[in-house]
Amino acid sequence: MPFRDHSGGRDACGVFGAHAPGEDTAKLCFYGLYALQHRGQESAGIAVSDGRHIVVTKEMGLVAQVFDETRLASLAGHLGIAHVRYSTTGASTWDNAQPAFKVTPGGRGLALAHNGNLVDTAEMARDLGPGADGCATDSELLTAAIAQRGDTRLEDAIVSTCARLPGAYSLVAMDESTLYGVRDPHGVRPLVIGRLPGGGHVVASETSALDIVGARLVRDVDPGEVVAIDDDGIRSRRFSEPRPSFCVFEYVYVARPDHRTRETTVYATRRRMGAALARQAHVAADLVIPVPDSGTAAAGGYAEASGIPYGEGLVKNRYVGRTFIQPTQSLRHLGIRMKLNPLPDVLTGRRLVVVDDSIVRGNTSRQLVRMLRESGAAEVHLRITSPPVRNPCHYGIDMATRAELVAADLSVDEIRDYLGVDSLAYLSLDALLAATQRPPGTLCRACFDGRYPIPVPHEEATGATLAHARGA
Ligand code: SF4
Repeated sequence: MPFRDHSGGRDACGVFGAHAPGEDTAKLCFYGLYALQHRGQESAGIAVSDGRHIVVTKEMGLVAQVFDETRLASLAGHLGIAHVRYSTTGASTWDNAQPAFKVTPGGRGLALAHNGNLVDTAEMARDLGPGADGCATDSELLTAAIAQRGDTRLEDAIVSTCARLPGAYSLVAMDESTLYGVRDPHGVRPLVIGRLPGGGHVVASETSALDIVGARLVRDVDPGEVVAIDDDGIRSRRFSEPRPSFCVFEYVYVARPDHRTRETTVYATRRRMGAALARQAHVAADLVIPVPDSGTAAAGGYAEASGIPYGEGLVKNRYVGRTFIQPTQSLRHLGIRMKLNPLPDVLTGRRLVVVDDSIVRGNTSRQLVRMLRESGAAEVHLRITSPPVRNPCHYGIDMATRAELVAADLSVDEIRDYLGVDSLAYLSLDALLAATQRPPGTLCRACFDGRYPIPVPHEEATGATLAHARGA
């Protein structure tokens, strides 16, 4: 099959890797993935090496559905990488699940797992020629490109490939003996290094995956850095000057609240976002309730700053995936109905401040408001802890196309009317950026202000590539 350009694909994935001699690496990978399940729920995969051979196992489904004791026991080795995946374009199939695997011309194996989105893969596909055949995702193409250069040291092949690679990528990769962690020069997606009590190391999308395996946070993989971890320890190489543009939406919605950054935690950031929103958009009300879970910390911050009591008016079914991390529109609607149940005795007759993280398409919020009114709410004042999402994400978050974004063409007042709320207010971009406590100018906020830090090819920016991929 010839390579089809899936650079419009939207993966919101989680990656994990471990180099841990003497430990059950497959189980470390399993638990690491378990902590990262929120980043992708379509497929899960683990690759391990015993120093001589790489074995890859991947399936569609949640981590705990894909792996059981028997399957993990068949994955023996001291080195492993792992991946959870979500995608909207291209098929959600076993073939596209990760880790991807290729063999170098010298006969060595290369397994790779990718979080992010490459914005222009045409040049890489051209360079690969027939080697691009059969690559159905940008991650597979990248694996093929590195493997093709892998007759040199794999480390050199990664450095030379990444030096020319446009887009957002946090990678874990491995050959038979070495674990690699790689972050694009903008550091759009997170990637952290941890140290295990026994001396091994792990690399993961979020610190929650370090905590679950008992690893201590060492540091971030820096933007534009490759770390190589083997029996000799950690080596670091730079393939680019860092130009940090970390995704601010990781703070708003994607990352778990217990994820720690250099400056703060996601939880503390969300509390500050809620408090800032209370100062910017106060309203007379009886109760502040969150849309669980990503609105929970911010609602606490709003309640504290406003002096309005905090309550829980919505019960979440925790065994249902995130509503916008579902592959089709019909499933998305199903997810909303299955996910939240109102508590009428808390809501009846109350003037509510409802705190949510973002409005993307508006479907979820509209149904939610209707549900709250049917449950007896006297007033519904919606408070959003991010600015209006007016532009699609080209760097790995499933936002929707521009045409699907409710704020792309509607004003805040028009959105208020569409949702049927008594009032609607968004957090300002300046207040959101300040809440992260990061140095100025180090965050990507393109979905809010349209300033993309990594150039996006015209056909992708206009949706042509996406339409092509979907129509193919
Ligand atoms: S466009 Fe938005 S979601 Fe995408 S990387 Fe930038 S801030 Fe994150």
